[in-house]
Amino acid sequence: MALPGSQEPGALAVPDYQAIIDSLPDALFVVGESGTITFMNTAAERMFGYPRTELVGRDHRTILAEGFREGFQRLFNGLRRHGDTADSPPFEAYGLRRDGSEIHGEVACALLRSGADVAMTVTVRATRPREEAEDGLREALSLLSATLESTADGILVVGTDGQIAGVNEQFVSMWGIPRGLLTTHDDEAVIDFVLGLLKDPGNFLAKVHELYANPLAESNDILEFLDGRTFERYSRPQKVADKVVGRVWSFRDVTPRLAAQDQAKRAMADLAEQAAQLKALAFQDPLTGLANRKLFHDQLAESLRVDFDSSVDVLLLDLDDFKEVNDILGHHAGDEMLTEVARRLRSCVRPDDTVARLGGDEFAVLLTASPQPDAVAECIVSSLNVPMWIDGTMLRPSLSLGLASAGEDPVAGSELLRQADVAMYAAKAAGKNRYMRFEPNMMTALVQRTDMEAGLRHAVDAGQIMVHYQPVISPKLGEVVQFEALARWKRDGEMVPPGQFIPTAERSGLISAIGLQVMRHSFTELRPWLAADATRSVAVNVSGVQLKDCTFAESVLRLAASCATDPRQLVLEVTESVFFDPDAHVIRQLDLLRDAGVRVALDDFGTGYSSLGRLQELPVDAVKIDRSFVSMVRTGAEKLPILNSMINMAHNLGLTVTAEGIETAAQATYLTNLNCDSLQGYLFSHPEPESGLEIALLRSADAIDEIHGVRLEG
Ligand code: C2E
Ligand code: MG
Ligand code: MG
Repeated sequence: MALPGSQEPGALAVPDYQAIIDSLPDALFVVGESGTITFMNTAAERMFGYPRTELVGRDHRTILAEGFREGFQRLFNGLRRHGDTADSPPFEAYGLRRDGSEIHGEVACALLRSGADVAMTVTVRATRPREEAEDGLREALSLLSATLESTADGILVVGTDGQIAGVNEQFVSMWGIPRGLLTTHDDEAVIDFVLGLLKDPGNFLAKVHELYANPLAESNDILEFLDGRTFERYSRPQKVADKVVGRVWSFRDVTPRLAAQDQAKRAMADLAEQAAQLKALAFQDPLTGLANRKLFHDQLAESLRVDFDSSVDVLLLDLDDFKEVNDILGHHAGDEMLTEVARRLRSCVRPDDTVARLGGDEFAVLLTASPQPDAVAECIVSSLNVPMWIDGTMLRPSLSLGLASAGEDPVAGSELLRQADVAMYAAKAAGKNRYMRFEPNMMTALVQRTDMEAGLRHAVDAGQIMVHYQPVISPKLGEVVQFEALARWKRDGEMVPPGQFIPTAERSGLISAIGLQVMRHSFTELRPWLAADATRSVAVNVSGVQLKDCTFAESVLRLAASCATDPRQLVLEVTESVFFDPDAHVIRQLDLLRDAGVRVALDDFGTGYSSLGRLQELPVDAVKIDRSFVSMVRTGAEKLPILNSMINMAHNLGLTVTAEGIETAAQATYLTNLNCDSLQGYLFSHPEPESGLEIALLRSADAIDEIHGVRLEG
């Protein structure tokens, strides 16, 4: 590379540039683009101890002391970016002489262009630093470098010109920057490499630009890497004597810390969720997801607070005959029904109203500020009545619902619930599948119920339960072949219908004692009639509650023996629900009795949930067709295939058939023509006490004659 020459006005006549340059007291070098020394003057030869022939053509780093070798290339790159007139402010550096000794000097650099070629002139003025200052500086430098290398943070120092002024080892390894890339001193390539590692390079650059626009600013932010790592980035200005000379960036790999924080956060969130679930469970019915009893009581108490000035209505409801669904179709079907009921209940109320399952088949609804609680009750009754299919069986749930509203006077939640309960019982007593609003006189009914139980208990203890007998006739034999024993309770001179006291007896458990009393009366009072003909029998009703007692069979047989009654003359009438009791010993009791010769009849056949096909599986000897089927016969001219099927099916299974509730001759004839084995009903006789047995037999005989007459006439 040649030095440019120029002809300045007023210069030496024949300027000898070489002589001028060699006369300079300062050393002068020209360093080419590749870092090679292309020119040097005499002062440079003197200062560094090299003859020009030896140094020209060699790399400029040959004459730089350890620690200063990389800076020149960076400087060169910086000057090139600044253009033709670029030069650097003088700075101090250490050079290396040929004999290995170091030389301290003040250095200034400037860009030198010649055509397309670019070079840099470097002048060096030897200076003598103060000894102690130099020692201090060296010590500080070595301390700084030791600190930098021992820190876990990656550190990058960038000059105000944007050039990388230094990095520590940790920076290089954290960022995975290839060594070769750093030694090229191509800062842009380094930046490109760095950006390629980041998830959001745009944000990275924006921050860099922002900080260079505000040299005094400090910043702290987070960098996310494509490989999942996270660095914390901290930046502050680098100052020398209050002058900003660059910027220090430090990077800390916080991936493990963030992962631990994340894990802790997740664990906290999990715990919070579990706590929320536990809390929800404490207030939620697990099957239906509705509120539970506890939550309902809390909400009710809250809504009845004196300062809470809106209407409060409580709806209490209970499914009719739910136990049968559970017993006959199984618990799974029962659960499905409850879930569907819950869904329908919710659809009848507003989102803020509370719907709760209090337990079993009992539900409650709390309405606050509801404009039409009666309309809600009506909606519930009708929406529950819509048939639902469960496990292939169509069910039509029905319910009894009681509604109670808080009035002007303050009322406790428990009192309001009691009123709703009383109204619900009134709805049940009025025939179920309806709602009733609480009225004060309903309390009387409640009192009556409690009173009934007390009275019944007393009657049982005092042996006041009586029995009436209703004849069952055989149309084929034309005579009475059986009496059904029906319990009677006369209270204060008035008969209480079994439909009223039997449920009370079942609920209170008194039915077991009543059942045995009815049996003892029957065996004793019918003894002569039974003894006269071994084919005659007595039918006694037995409820499921009695069969749960595993000594039942034994008690019955003992009683029969003590009354000298042949067990083969005893028929026990049960309803089909007893066969679906999951309790195995219920069936076992019946089996024991049948083994001893007792017959079992299925009472009220056709009214339950079970199908005709199920009859085959039941351990019974006879069926009693419910009077609701018999009442379908009016003129006797109608076609009723259901009756025909029932009788045929039973006969095919070897069962005998009795038709209950025969009130007209037409019904008697119709069923006789269908081959029904026995008939029972008011047409022949009402149930009569022991004293009326003769009359019952006579009336029955008359009725039989009448039917025969009808048939003969027919
Ligand atoms: P059940 O066993 O089906 O008895 C037949 C019921 O029908 C009796 O009612 C009887 O009086 C009535 N009845 C008979 N013929 C006719 C008729 O032609 N027309 C009409 N409308 N009704 C007729 P009762 O005596 O009121 O008994 C009602 C139910 O109470 C019985 O139905 C039975 O389930 C139950 N029960 C009665 N006594 C006992 C008992 O000692 N133990 C148990 N567990 N239940 C009993
Ligand atoms: Mg019966
Ligand atoms: Mg019956």
